[in-house]
Amino acid sequence: LSKRYIGLEHNVWTEFTTLAVQHNAVNLGQGFIDYEPPQYFLDIYDETVKEHNKFLHQYTRGFGHRRLVEAISNVYSLYFNRKIDPFKEILIAGGAYPSLFNAIHSIINPGDEVILIEPFFDCYEPMVRSAGGIVRCIPLRPKPESLKQDISSSSDWILDKNELELMFNSNTRLIILNTPNNPLGKVFTREELEHIASLCQKYNVICISDEVYEWITYDNKKHIRIGTLPNMWQRTLTIGSAGKTFSATGLKLGWTIGPENLIRLNQIVHQHTVYLCPTLSQEVVARCFEYELKRLNSSECYFNSVSKEFIEKRNQFAQVLKECGMKPIVPDGSYFMLADFSSFVNDEQFQSDENDKKDFKFIRYLIKEKQLAAIPVSAFYTKNHQYLGENYIRFCFAKHPETLDKATNILRKLK
Ligand code: PMP
Ligand code: GLN
Repeated sequence: LSKRYIGLEHNVWTEFTTLAVQHNAVNLGQGFIDYEPPQYFLDIYDETVKEHNKFLHQYTRGFGHRRLVEAISNVYSLYFNRKIDPFKEILIAGGAYPSLFNAIHSIINPGDEVILIEPFFDCYEPMVRSAGGIVRCIPLRPKPESLKQDISSSSDWILDKNELELMFNSNTRLIILNTPNNPLGKVFTREELEHIASLCQKYNVICISDEVYEWITYDNKKHIRIGTLPNMWQRTLTIGSAGKTFSATGLKLGWTIGPENLIRLNQIVHQHTVYLCPTLSQEVVARCFEYELKRLNSSECYFNSVSKEFIEKRNQFAQVLKECGMKPIVPDGSYFMLADFSSFVNDEQFQSDENDKKDFKFIRYLIKEKQLAAIPVSAFYTKNHQYLGENYIRFCFAKHPETLDKATNILRKLK
């Protein structure tokens, strides 16, 4: 194994997705919907596949299929309040994963410091480390009074402003932001983003903003793009995902939007790794964006209606967790929910590997003995901070009512 990857052998997704399949578990682990995407998406998908004469079975433009970058430019220019150049300010990659990889690997040199906000989507750390970067972590901390409540909110988790500033220094090159956040579901407020933005400017730091859950927010919480704040366009790379946007994770397309000079750096990594992404998938997503562009301001637009599809699931599932004795943290965005299970179980019940964190042990027990899969939250922290996450597990509630019923029955019988 190349030295760059030594120490990065483990991955929570490969481990727990495999275990869930082996034990035929009800899967509230990996984040994907287990029912059909919206009907208009399926119609466009079917139509596109049938158009053999359009040469969608051949290569297309390397930095993004023309129709797709134009559609993304037309939609996002409205949200960024500027004309986004489809060819110079957008790059298409094979999912938000490679978009993140391109961004991190095109900017980081060995020894550069990167600030991550815990809990963070787990791939950020290995991507930074394999680029030779040094991870500096700052945890979101729950307000003490929220810990006493049976049900709390993702907005109770906040950054200490002074602690955040102490993370920045002359070696800091990047900060990676994720709003709405996975796994917590926190939607960063304008004030929080303004503080981060001011530090980026003061210390000349670039911000990668992972916004794959941009359309999934609840209770009138507004998703704010840090790249739209004053003086932030020049130093922000905003990343989105077709899989998350259209509830079809198998599309595996991601986009990066940002200033020409930074997108150019991303293109250089991309042209020497995958070079171009599947044409068919790009054409489908282009047509979906064109379709939504015509109804962006209507409640029918999927970007506006998708949260309504999930909010009932969120509310019901929070009640279920509470009734069975866990303490849910109700998310303001995304389709994940954390639950504190610490008062719920007795450690002795599920001894596995001694070195395991409490949450890893609990999830192994849940999958193997109870056929229910979720994700241990310490996986979203760096090693020294894992103790901050080990009382929590993450559930994905973007599931068919039958799946949620099955999970509910298992949870009710657990106590
Ligand atoms: N970022 C976050 C926060 C995610 O949750 C995910 C998982 N979908 C990704 C990036 C990767 O997305 P994709 O499936 O488009 O590669
Ligand atoms: N982003 C999804 C999640 O958090 C999927 C992760 C993955 O496929 N590795 O569950």
